Amino acid sequence: MTEVKYLNIIEKKRCSGCTACVAVCPKQCITMQADEEGFLYPVVNTTRCIQCSKCVKVCPYTDSEFTNKPEKEELSVCYAAYNKNEEIRYKSASGGMFRVFADQIIAEGGVVFGATFDKDFTVEHTYTETLEGLTAFMGSKYLQSRMEDSFIQVKRFLREGRKVLFTGCACQIAGLKRYLKKDDANLICIDLICHGVDSPQIWLDYLHSLFPDESVKSVNFRDKVTGQDNSSVCIISSKSMFCERGRNSVYFKNWQYGMFTRPSCEICPFKSDNRVSDITIGDCWGFKKIAPEMYDDKGLSSMVVHSEKGKTLFDTVMHQLSFKETLIDDVKLYNSDYIRSNAFVHSRRKAFWKDYHQHKKPFEKLLKKHLEDSKTKILFKYIKKVVRRCLLLLKGLPN
Ligand SMILES: Cc1cc2nc3c(=O)[nH]c(=O)nc-3n(C[C@H](O)[C@H](O)[C@H](O)COP(=O)(O)OP(=O)(O)OC[C@H]3O[C@@H](n4cnc5c(N)ncnc54)[C@H](O)[C@@H]3O)c2cc1C
Repeated sequence: MTEVKYLNIIEKKRCSGCTACVAVCPKQCITMQADEEGFLYPVVNTTRCIQCSKCVKVCPYTDSEFTNKPEKEELSVCYAAYNKNEEIRYKSASGGMFRVFADQIIAEGGVVFGATFDKDFTVEHTYTETLEGLTAFMGSKYLQSRMEDSFIQVKRFLREGRKVLFTGCACQIAGLKRYLKKDDANLICIDLICHGVDSPQIWLDYLHSLFPDESVKSVNFRDKVTGQDNSSVCIISSKSMFCERGRNSVYFKNWQYGMFTRPSCEICPFKSDNRVSDITIGDCWGFKKIAPEMYDDKGLSSMVVHSEKGKTLFDTVMHQLSFKETLIDDVKLYNSDYIRSNAFVHSRRKAFWKDYHQHKKPFEKLLKKHLEDSKTKILFKYIKKVVRRCLLLLKGLPN
């Protein structure tokens, strides 16, 4: 029988599962396999491995010069913006920026890569060459997207001289750039301000706990029927519908507090001033200070353009946007996942997973159990909040 081991190129907790090592392997002897938490990691078939070390060299984490970084942050220009197309804006998680850029690439005969639900409602990366195909990429899916063979497909399209827009998390773009080795004038990358990605296994169990005997038809993690600020997770099944405000959702609270976030998200090196993409998009948190006149609770994005390529694309589509130039320091202040990871591992993460594997509690109970804070912790959080508000007041900023 063939011997198979976890690939020893990097500490497991630092691996984001970007798949650069899988794509580069000349013997195709690396596969992505789920661990006990449902996250994919590279596994090598040691019998077929010729020890060429290409997988080690390509890893964006094994080298401090982890990617072909674009131009310096000094060149970055920052905007608060939204798509003037009301329907697209409504269906998007934020201000509908993704579609304005993606539509342009399709109009130029290009190819767009993004994350979509598969038939089981886990998430995978794929590509489209049509406007209709873009619909499936719209909206945030808060679990890790499987790359499949996306990196290889990107390379193929670039070789054919096609324009390619690759969208995803910064770790995925870092991996893609390391795999491609050199920049390509036809490649444009857009990354998200990202808090972290969840375990696909927990997500599937959660779905099953909501709809044990029904098939799921659609999922919207950020339904805006009650506004962007109060967005809801809405899931429609063959017989019923589940809708809950994001901020009340026990699933989202667990995500936010790092109960089942991918371990590498906690120490993500790609959340930094020197982003790996041409354009970064996220929510415009801090809108009261940044762009109060633009806020109508329908979706407002923050966008940072980092490179000449990004600027050219932005200039081409700007007539389709409402926007105003803002300060990068405000993005860093109000949306600090732009610059550092806030995806802290919850102090009870280990206990959660032990319970998950050993006791098989009813799922809803398990999700609630480990979130319950002690009185001291609640008091500590309250004090932290008050101190933060005082600091903002001292700085003369709205809180
Ligand atoms: C896991 C995750 C965490 C996020 N965390 C934050 C945060 O902390 N702060 C913040 O300001 N914004 C965060 N966002 C980004 C934000 O929610 C919007 O996705 C972003 O502003 C783009 O919105 P849009 O309206 O322009 O377009 P939309 O149409 O909503 O965006 C769709 C885009 O998101 C990509 N996408 C969706 N799901 C995934 C996924 N699982 N993996 C990779 N790419 C995906 C699609 O490929 C497409 O490019 C996060 C998004 C994701 C997916």
